[in-house]
Formats: sequence, C-alpha cells, structure tokens
Amino acid sequence: MLTIDTIQRAPKALLHDHLDGGLRPSTIVDLAAEYSYQGLPTTDPGELAAWIRRGADRKSLELYLETFVHTVGVLQERDAIIRVAAECAEDLAADGVVYAEVRYAPELSTERKLTLDEVIDANLEGFRIGAARGAAAGHPITMKVLVTAMRQAARSVEVAEAAIRWRDAGVVGFDIAGPEAGYRPTRHLEAFDRIRHENFHITIHAGESFGLPSIWEALQFCGAERLGHGVRIVDDISVEPDGTVRLGRLAAFVRDRRVPLEMCPTSNVHSGAVASVGEHPVDLLRRLRFRVTLNTDNRLMSGVSVSSEFATLDETFGIGLGEMEWLTINAMKSAFAPFDERLALINEVVKPGYAHLRAEQSRVVAGP
Ligand SMILES: [Zn+2]
Repeated sequence: MLTIDTIQRAPKALLHDHLDGGLRPSTIVDLAAEYSYQGLPTTDPGELAAWIRRGADRKSLELYLETFVHTVGVLQERDAIIRVAAECAEDLAADGVVYAEVRYAPELSTERKLTLDEVIDANLEGFRIGAARGAAAGHPITMKVLVTAMRQAARSVEVAEAAIRWRDAGVVGFDIAGPEAGYRPTRHLEAFDRIRHENFHITIHAGESFGLPSIWEALQFCGAERLGHGVRIVDDISVEPDGTVRLGRLAAFVRDRRVPLEMCPTSNVHSGAVASVGEHPVDLLRRLRFRVTLNTDNRLMSGVSVSSEFATLDETFGIGLGEMEWLTINAMKSAFAPFDERLALINEVVKPGYAHLRAEQSRVVAGP
C-alpha cells in the first residue's frame, strides 16, 4: 500500500475543486468577524468544520449544497476572495498538487457590491499570491480558474461572457453547477453557444445525482469537453455474471472519444450518488480504461485533500503508483491549459516525479 508521504510527494493534478468548498475553517471564522457575517452556527473552527461535514454527509445533493451558505456568506468582499483563493493555492501546493483548475461561480459573490468581473479578478489575484507562496516554500503550482454559472439561476450568458473576457489572464473554461434534477444543461444552451463560438472550453456537472439524459445533453447539445462527475455513465454499462462487459451507445461514445470524467468518490458518497467508495464506479471505469481523473470536489465539506482521495482509492482498490501516475497524466491530458504548458508539466514534472518515487520504492524492496 502507498504511504501518505509517498502520495503527498507524488506530483498530482486536480481538475474539479470548488473555491467555495475548500475554505480553511479558521478563515471562515476570521472573515465572518471581519465583515460582520452573522449566520455561523459556531465560531470555533474545529466545531465549524465538524458541523459543515455533518451537514454535507446527508446523502442528498440538495442538502449537501445547503452547507455552502456560510462559505459563500463570507466571500462577498474583494479582500476575502483574495485571501481564500491564495490559501487555496497554498494548501494545494503543500499537498503536492502541481496543476489545478479551481472553479467558482462569481454570481454568488455579488450579494453586496462586487461585479462578476471584480470577483474573477480577485480570484485570479489570490491564485497568483498563493502560487508565489507555494513556489517560495518549494512547491511550485500552476493555478487556473474555471468560471461557473449556477444552473438554477438565469445569469449563465452574462457569466459566460465574463469568463471569455478573462481568458488571457488565467481563466481556462466555463462550467455549470448546482442542483441537477430539474435543471438540465440545455437550459443554458445560449451560454454554451457563446463559449463554443469563441473556441473556449466547457466542462459540465452532469451525471452526478441525475442520469444518462443529463450526460447526453451535456455532450451532444452543449458541447461539454469533460464531464463533472459523470458517474452515472455506469447506467449505460452492463456486466454479465461471466464478466462480459457491454457498453451502450452513450458509454461507448464517452470511452471512444476519451471524454474525461472528473470523478470525486468521497463527495459522491456524501451527496448520496453512490453508497460507498468500495461500490464507486471509479474502479470499473478505470479498469475499462475510460479517461478517469481523480478529484476532491469540496475539500472542506468532504474533509478530503487530493492526497487523501488517492490514499482512499489505494486502500480500497490497491491502485499503486502506476495507476496514480496514469490518473495524473489523464488529468494533465484533459486540462484546459494550452497544450505546450500541459506537455511541459507532463514531461518535466509528472513523469520524472513518478520515476523518482518508483526508483525509491525499488531501492526499499531491494534493500541495502
Ligand atoms: Zn462539483
């Protein structure tokens, strides 16, 4: 089994993580005091973290999403967003993440006076500060922003246009998030069209709590290049008692076209999409060689890090260093950063990093 130290030192890539789902509990308490946010259930960081985790682990996506009211509540000022984004980059870098796309819905931070553009600007500024701190501590990280629109709201076109305006400053794509049932991706077709006409990138939360129609619409109507979760694609796969696997047309399309799946096992258990990590389709899908990537979704709500998620996968399915590298290269191949940037990270950071760890492991096995 991989040690947590090995997992932490291994270079990792992250494609699905929410800025408002990864705040440090102590930062929420600080910001609430600084900006007179009244709603917190407790001002003790440890109790607050436990309260949020309990609230997220209620086996319903709608209940899971309720816990964001407090994190979004303290993200209404420029300096608060900068601080949270900087700490996000710093925490990921310290965890051995070398490339991250972190998403946020700027419309959530416009309750007071900020505009969409000001929110995105603050987010990017925070990532620059945090990445610089990470590099100074010996953990370089490339941070990118995905701009999200909320699927139950009606601002997706405006949000998509804002995402396009910031594409040369570190925004690499557009996403929709929020409750899936009743809010199918085609509601936001105009926003997706805007993005596609600008040759920009799309990932869509689809197939998390809702099934195949959502995945089908995301891919075939909205132009999604990746699927956020996409876990329900298993509904189109049957495994016979003798082990024969049959893929339906949609599952075959997803595998043949190498559509990346941004899988987040622990989050799926908490939101009720899957009963346990042991039963999570991530294992079947990786064995069938779908383009699987491993992600955190919401580090605070689920009490996870990229490393802990890899450790859980290794404990449950025995993935080892080889599969860990495969998942990481899958993520780098699927990232929305320009090709040359991704290639440089794969060849100069990811592959040498795993080669080094493998050499270290064989030395341990061989003995002195
Ligand atoms: Zn998500």
